[in-house]
Amino acid sequence: MSGIDYSGLLPLETALERLLAMAQSAPIQGCERVELAAADGRVLAEPLIAGLDLPPWPNSAMDGYALRLADWDGTPLAVSQRILAGTAPQPLQPGTCARIFTGAPLPVGADSVEMQENVALDDDGRVRFAEPLRLGQNVRGQGQETRQGDSVLPAGTRLGPIELGLAASLGVAELSVRRQPRVAVLSTGDELVEPGLPLGPGQIYNSNRRLLISWLQRLGCAVVDAGILADDLARTRTALGGLSDVDLIVSTGGVSVGEADFLGEALREAGELTFWKLAIKPGKPLTCGQFRGVPVIGLPGNPASTLVTFGLLARPYLLRRLGVERVAPLGFAMPAGFTWSKPGKRREYLRARLENGRVVPYPNQSSGVLRSAAWAEGLAEVLEGTTLAEGDSLRFIPLSEILG
Ligand code: AMP
Ligand code: MG
Repeated sequence: MSGIDYSGLLPLETALERLLAMAQSAPIQGCERVELAAADGRVLAEPLIAGLDLPPWPNSAMDGYALRLADWDGTPLAVSQRILAGTAPQPLQPGTCARIFTGAPLPVGADSVEMQENVALDDDGRVRFAEPLRLGQNVRGQGQETRQGDSVLPAGTRLGPIELGLAASLGVAELSVRRQPRVAVLSTGDELVEPGLPLGPGQIYNSNRRLLISWLQRLGCAVVDAGILADDLARTRTALGGLSDVDLIVSTGGVSVGEADFLGEALREAGELTFWKLAIKPGKPLTCGQFRGVPVIGLPGNPASTLVTFGLLARPYLLRRLGVERVAPLGFAMPAGFTWSKPGKRREYLRARLENGRVVPYPNQSSGVLRSAAWAEGLAEVLEGTTLAEGDSLRFIPLSEILG
């Protein structure tokens, strides 16, 4: 793969580097405080600092009996109190033990817990412990998980169920998050019709609009639905001009250097245009630039191309503008369950599944076929200039890595 000149085609890494550099110089400014219930998918603007120790006090990890190990001489101990979760215990009476349940506070004076399965109860109710007991066993010490003042999540963390649960465990009800980016979605193409309307001759339904709007919403964006744009320069100008208050315009279609490249034309006139032929398949043509200062990313129109270019380029760009550090999707090496005999000039992102631990591509990899991605569980990366035999390893990027 290396050493081969694919001049004219831009490697994905280079395109991503350039996009991330652009993102870095145009961070989404401003933040707001939102309740946890509204923070899913948003990006933390300030580090989350623990306001208390976790656990806040020592407590029992088991249902059992708490005792002070140094006081125990091997004889059975009387039970002097019963401590349920959510109650405040008395200090432990010397020479006794306490019945205790999981999550209940350890009484002052106790230092160890024996689980109930390991003790025997005498007829008089005394508890017979068996050797050996270890000091501190089954006790979750104060601050064992987190100390007050710890930075638990850095600024730039994307918030999901786990982070929100963690914030809740610290008693935090609101978080400071980055302002929602306003992202306009524009579908270009004379042939496009919205679902629910009848199809005329030569027309197809607009799939990209729904794909991108739902995706952007999952990414925590406020979406401006700019509808369908006809293939016409004057209308393209007007449409772009009407979107001056957004942080990003994502358009689909009309980016191949063809006669109907109105997006490129409009950007060239009133902004800045960069056109890339990416060394990937699907998703070769990509336009980026700005229209009167508003950043624009023009994705190719075929739905599977839209998916791949949005997922691998536009999504990381957007997240980086929000201050997210780790924007690349995780992928892992998996054995091919297919052969690849013809080395390609472009890196292919096959819509594929894992079957019996092997990567199996959808039979129809045409860039127009969104059904391939609905069937798939991930994108399988076949590097440029390579062939694959069954069992050879290739990178598999789960779709879940890019969709949220
Ligand atoms: P274009 O990039 O405009 O040349 O479009 C490439 C292919 O994608 C053509 O077959 C278009 O009809 C199709 N296409 C463009 N936009 C959409 C869309 N929003 N939904 C479905 N197909 C589209
Ligand atoms: Mg078009």
